[in-house]
Amino acid sequence: MPVPDPALLARKAEIVRALQRIVPGEGVVSEPAGLVPFESDGLSAYRQTPLAVVLPETTAQVSQVLAWCQANGVKVVPRGAGTSLSGGALPLADGVVLGLSKFNRVLEVDYANRCAVVQPGVTNLGITAAVEAAGFYYAPDPSSQIACTIGGNVAENSGGVHCLKYGLTTNNLLGCELVLMSGEIVRLGGKAMDADGYDLLGLVTGSEGLLGVVTEVTVRILPKPQTAQALLLGFPTVEAAGATVGDIIAAGVIPAGLEMMDNPAIRAAEAFVGAGYPVDAAALLIVELDGPEAECAELTGHVRALASARGADFVRVSQNEAERLAFWAGRKAAFPAVGRIAPDYFCMDGTIPRGKLPQVLTRITELSAHYGLGVANVFHAGDGNLHPLILYDADRPGELERAEAFGADILKLCVAVGGVLTGEHGVGVEKRDLMSEMFDATDLACQQRVKCAFDPGLLLNPGKVFPTLHRCAELGRMHVHRGKLAFPELPRF
Ligand SMILES: Cc1cc2nc3c(=O)[nH]c(=O)nc-3n(C[C@H](O)[C@H](O)[C@H](O)COP(=O)(O)OP(=O)(O)OC[C@H]3O[C@@H](n4cnc5c(N)ncnc54)[C@H](O)[C@@H]3O)c2cc1C
Repeated sequence: MPVPDPALLARKAEIVRALQRIVPGEGVVSEPAGLVPFESDGLSAYRQTPLAVVLPETTAQVSQVLAWCQANGVKVVPRGAGTSLSGGALPLADGVVLGLSKFNRVLEVDYANRCAVVQPGVTNLGITAAVEAAGFYYAPDPSSQIACTIGGNVAENSGGVHCLKYGLTTNNLLGCELVLMSGEIVRLGGKAMDADGYDLLGLVTGSEGLLGVVTEVTVRILPKPQTAQALLLGFPTVEAAGATVGDIIAAGVIPAGLEMMDNPAIRAAEAFVGAGYPVDAAALLIVELDGPEAECAELTGHVRALASARGADFVRVSQNEAERLAFWAGRKAAFPAVGRIAPDYFCMDGTIPRGKLPQVLTRITELSAHYGLGVANVFHAGDGNLHPLILYDADRPGELERAEAFGADILKLCVAVGGVLTGEHGVGVEKRDLMSEMFDATDLACQQRVKCAFDPGLLLNPGKVFPTLHRCAELGRMHVHRGKLAFPELPRF
């Protein structure tokens, strides 16, 4: 992480006073005990106490906080619920965490336009809760949906089991309000299907809190499918399960969810939830089909036949809604379930072409033996989005470092077979130093020019995503207006 600036650390009292003027009452946390809950996010291997935490309630306050921080050279780390698995919300010792937890209201549900306007601190599941009585839901469903916020989902372009058919956050986002580091408030997109000009909404989605702070979100809501049915398919080999995934997609069937778990993950989930999983299977597919009843029945039969042709020796079809939810309960609880079998785990997130699944899983098993660390695989098989969970014990000297090296090898493997470094968890600090595996210096400089256009002082969430931060002046992007140089205190190159 960037080395803390001693001058900023020495100005803590002044910074806290200034933030308290903007957000009075209990809106600023600065006492050591109060800062503890903000030290870490879902990537709990890393922690850092922030200088202070500010919890604004209005967009005007967010704007004033950011403008003051920019004018005073103070770094800001936006934070939703802090469930990021890539360390995106990891604080900085000399930076302020800007928490959006008080932005927790559903502002409008517009059934005519099939959208909802919500504040960024509303949980993912909270959107569905607001519209389900009318038969609607919000489709992208990260497993953390009970806790993670829609603002965090936008920043990470989050996905979930239903994204194979219904798209990721970016495909379900219609508009947002964004506050830039300068304090300027901009609106991107809206209720209409398309917006003028460049697709800035697409640019901001997945920008990991580096371009602006999202203060309002407009999302698409969908009518709940008439029927949904889930199948559990157990296979004697991982290869057969992987091949069935390819067969299903090649047959033109797009399931609402197509997930895979390997044997360690199946055992952990079954012991935790008792979902009825076959504990002796080498791999389990959970396939959900949805739509009108007749279509669902037809597709279920089709998938069942494809699985049998590949040697599936365990087949269960959900007979009612309770059973369908029970099938999913094991998958949704797979991460905490794995947390019960090892003191610590790293959840990796890489994406590969579907056809490479067997090859990559075999290599992960070899790497597991090489590093002497266990691994459980749970993933969005339909999207080729892997989540190997590397098991380790942080109390044993050297295990954390071995787990990090194992994880890095898995991500390099994903890139080597034609995939990408992340599917949905973002780059954050976790994959930052691997960015050059995928992008050359020119690519990275182009990406950073975008960052400079939004945040020329590089004050918003620094230390994340980019392996090396160049000053914007270095990239030739420092704008000089009427001879007035922005950020005159920065050394020029
Ligand atoms: C058990 C578990 C399961 C998970 N399963 C999934 C899954 O299935 N799919 C998936 O995609 N992810 C999953 N995640 C990861 C995580 O939940 C998502 O990345 C989620 O979107 C983070 O939301 P958050 O509110 O917790 O954001 P935070 O962790 O607080 O922040 C994440 C990033 O977003 C930025 N940010 C947050 N709010 C804003 C805002 N309002 N404006 C600008 N930037 C902002 C932060 O700076 C940070 O870079 C899982 C995490 C856990 C712990």
